[in-house]
Amino acid sequence: MKTQLNILLGGLGLFALQGCKAPQAEQSVQPNVIYVFPDQYRNQAMEFWGQEGFREKVNFRNDPVHTPRLNDFARESVVLTSAMSNCPLSSPHRGSLLTGMYPNKSGIPLNCNSSRPISSLREDAVCVSDVFCNAGYDCAYFGKLHADFPTPNDPERPGQYVEDRVPAWDAYTPKERRHGFNYWYSYGTFDEHKNPHYWDTEGRRHDPREWSPLHESGKVVSYLKNEGNVRDPKKPFFIMVGMNPPHSPYRSFNLYKNQPLDSLLVRPNADSKMLKAESARYYFASVTGVDRAFGQILDALKELGLDKNTIVVFASDHGETMCSQHTEDPKNSPYSESMNVPFLVRFPDKIKPRVDDLMLSSPDIMPTLLGLAGLADSIPTEVQGRNYAPLFFDEKADIVRPTGALYIQNLDGEKDAEGMVRSYFPSSRGFKSARYTLALYIDRENHKLVKSLLFDDEKDPYQMNNLSLEENQEVVKDLCAEMGKVLKEIDDPWYKEGILKDMIPY
Ligand code: CA
Repeated sequence: MKTQLNILLGGLGLFALQGCKAPQAEQSVQPNVIYVFPDQYRNQAMEFWGQEGFREKVNFRNDPVHTPRLNDFARESVVLTSAMSNCPLSSPHRGSLLTGMYPNKSGIPLNCNSSRPISSLREDAVCVSDVFCNAGYDCAYFGKLHADFPTPNDPERPGQYVEDRVPAWDAYTPKERRHGFNYWYSYGTFDEHKNPHYWDTEGRRHDPREWSPLHESGKVVSYLKNEGNVRDPKKPFFIMVGMNPPHSPYRSFNLYKNQPLDSLLVRPNADSKMLKAESARYYFASVTGVDRAFGQILDALKELGLDKNTIVVFASDHGETMCSQHTEDPKNSPYSESMNVPFLVRFPDKIKPRVDDLMLSSPDIMPTLLGLAGLADSIPTEVQGRNYAPLFFDEKADIVRPTGALYIQNLDGEKDAEGMVRSYFPSSRGFKSARYTLALYIDRENHKLVKSLLFDDEKDPYQMNNLSLEENQEVVKDLCAEMGKVLKEIDDPWYKEGILKDMIPY
């Protein structure tokens, strides 16, 4: 009965509005959950992909990075080769991660800043943290959130934004918008990684002057140890850690300083003559630093005897092109460097380590996390993603695997007289199947096709040969059929407007 009530209330969004009134029962057996997701961390930037047991499962060469902790962690985890960030951009991914919905429903179709009031996490959405909270968990958020429309609500300067640049990107998230997280140490978005800042549960600002991933792992360890009685040790916990590096800017680290650039940019589609090429050294150094910070959390879990009953996930919001494909844009494209993200899940004794080619999409993460924690019955009805937890427990589970993942790119739409963005333009949709990548771009005015990308990722894993749609009509037809199904199912603007309906059967 309680479960049915949860679903009913969850579907109406009431829990999100009421705050968390957690039941006290069923706690001892519930697993803890820690979800760590550094920003802009591409799947290829993990050393183990070049090692035995892993390299034969993928058709790309791993980046020449040192990730000793992830290498060990991968051997204890289910590791996905093909997890996709559908809308590979910070805020839209985070909206999907938190709500289990695509950007057209989560409230976040565009990156959040103060000129985009149409892009902000829906206050009435039931987020993953609302569900954990209502299931009796203590919920804690650390690091970058970047899912809120910044408003002039600086706790120290009432009536002002937390930063002075225009538009403001950084944001303070007040208690009523924390969706069940009862412990808070977070900020919106801010890219001085050695001079980060955070607002705590009570809204006090902290400026620790420490490289942010290591500062955050230290705070997580302190939380796990329950220093200062910040959590109820009788309750299970749900922790999200949004580390900002390896996101740019790239500077200050010496680990790969003397290595020739063409020994670092090993992908055949990369151009080591690009101005950005120098950044590779620092991107990879940040990757190694994140690996170390992640390792500190793992060490604390073990030291405290919490490792056995804690589900640990390592993921990212999107990748980084890093001189591949001659693009300056690190993300927001359908290239594998941008869309393909790490996804590793460790749950000792409950899931057996292996590599799996499940094409997990961003909105699938929330229901899958709930499924892993035994809360499948509490997945809100509004969620669009699927619960693939049974496949993590048993690769032969009787569950239909996705045929691919949607690709989504949105741009600013109409602006009002004040320059505020009031709508979004759905500039591209595409489909990544096990074998192909397709992306279709439309004209802003007449919504006709202006550009296409089509790659045979099996024969051309570095996506160097853009195939003609004309010469591959059967392939395009199949991909458009799959894409049309999903666009209809999620009620996407392309489906609603019948965009390219001569190609896409809705
Ligand atoms: Ca990001």
